[in-house]
Amino acid sequence: METKYIFFTGGVVSSVGKGVTAAALGLLFKERGFSVSVQKLDPYINVDPGTMSPYQHGEVFVLDDGAETDLDLGHYERFIDNPLSQVSNFTSGQVYDEVISKERRGDYLGGTIQIIPHITNEIKRRIRLAAHTTKAEIMLIEIGGTVGDIESQPFMESLRQMRNEVGTENTYFVHVTWLPYIGATGELKTKPTQHSVAELRGIGIAPSMIIARSDYDVDQEIIDKIALFCDVEKRAVVPMKTANSLYEIPLLVEEAGVADYIIEKINLKASKKPNLKPWKELSKKINADKPKIKIALVGKYIELQDAYMSVREALRHAALSIGVEDEVVWIHSADLEKGKNLDALESADAIIVPGGFGERGIEGKILAAQYARENKIPYLGLCLGMQLMCIEFARNVLGYENANSSEFDQGTPHPVIDLMLEQRNISDMGGTMRLGLYPCALQKGTLAQKSYNKEEINERHRHRFEFNNKYRKEFEENGMVFSGTSPDNMLVEIAELKDHPFMVSSQFHPEFLSRPMRPHPLFVGFLKSTKKVAKI
Ligand code: GLN
Repeated sequence: METKYIFFTGGVVSSVGKGVTAAALGLLFKERGFSVSVQKLDPYINVDPGTMSPYQHGEVFVLDDGAETDLDLGHYERFIDNPLSQVSNFTSGQVYDEVISKERRGDYLGGTIQIIPHITNEIKRRIRLAAHTTKAEIMLIEIGGTVGDIESQPFMESLRQMRNEVGTENTYFVHVTWLPYIGATGELKTKPTQHSVAELRGIGIAPSMIIARSDYDVDQEIIDKIALFCDVEKRAVVPMKTANSLYEIPLLVEEAGVADYIIEKINLKASKKPNLKPWKELSKKINADKPKIKIALVGKYIELQDAYMSVREALRHAALSIGVEDEVVWIHSADLEKGKNLDALESADAIIVPGGFGERGIEGKILAAQYARENKIPYLGLCLGMQLMCIEFARNVLGYENANSSEFDQGTPHPVIDLMLEQRNISDMGGTMRLGLYPCALQKGTLAQKSYNKEEINERHRHRFEFNNKYRKEFEENGMVFSGTSPDNMLVEIAELKDHPFMVSSQFHPEFLSRPMRPHPLFVGFLKSTKKVAKI
């Protein structure tokens, strides 16, 4: 059977939820019995987001196979709950890299290398490869950015070519736009949508559906106008008002009849009725009155909260599962270093220190770990958060004044966190960390093991440094428990403190495997250990 390709393009502005809309739709197709996969095409030149600053790009979402990908893949996995892989995300950088390598090898036999056909062929090859490897009946393909961006032109051209190659009946183009609201006249404007559709048509693509995002209700008149000016059926103009919560979007998209309409248009037949009961229940929980738990998130990229997207969502999943509301208090680690914002830390019911790279803000996070240890406040450390919990312990419990990670202080006399052996001769920064799924054996009776209620787990990693085994015995003799290690016991995966309600940290990133319907055990254990939840 020929795969059906549904392409998602963006118009007017970015960040209006193109990825989330596509993810919600993917879930609705899966619920109708179709095998679904997704692919995100990022037109920027970086090979992957792995080396990009979180300020520029938000979080890097890591997959089972170690691919470092765009954060939209997080939405896809959280909604559709199918594990994605390396083929699910590619960039212009990868496309050019491949074409130029081929040219250097002489594969093009002296031909002149051009955007059309060489670059567009490589883009189409990668789209087909994803469809082939995932054997999906429906491929949802999102193109990053908005129509009109210079970088995205070869991608748009490739989609146009694909439509001709696989057939109009096997392709569907969803264009997601934004309706700005003019306060002075109190109206929503369709002109930018019209312009972006005109731009798309200029490339040779006629949108099959327009999803018009807005912060306000959209009346029929606006829908009719968009249909008329953009030449799409009225039924295919779908207003999508900003939702109360991300997790209500699948219900809104279902209510709008989008999935049934598209299936009809691409000549498919659903084999079952969607069961959205779990999502309805989740929505009920979201809207219910719940006791609030304050969680201090101590990070250094907090100006752009997208940098902690999966942590934020994992907290939400866990909180909803135990009937509480997670109120995240964002604390800049540099503020703590300057003695500022300590009251925010003190007012929190729990503290979380997420991952990060580089020296800036480290001491503030160590202070947060010290505060959590001394005041017995639940603490969850994620990757860097675990490393810093160990450094704090070495300094303030073992008395090693200058203990540090060799990432931040190469000359430290006590490198309790050190570069992994296999990382020592690596000079390239991109894609060279310890990445992806690795097993971890849990020690019976520990907080971590009780949270998981399992003996072996698999979690996603992204790090270069590790706990230095030279210090293991001394740590253990003084109250640290290494409750999770690699099965050969060579690598510390989880550290926790004895005689503390919950000071548990992992070298891996549990947040990447948390799902709304399957909250992550470590996040649940963490929130359950707060005094407030204990009282409920
Ligand atoms: N910078 C640390 C390392 O490379 C932690 C990485 C992280 O938090 N993802 O090991």
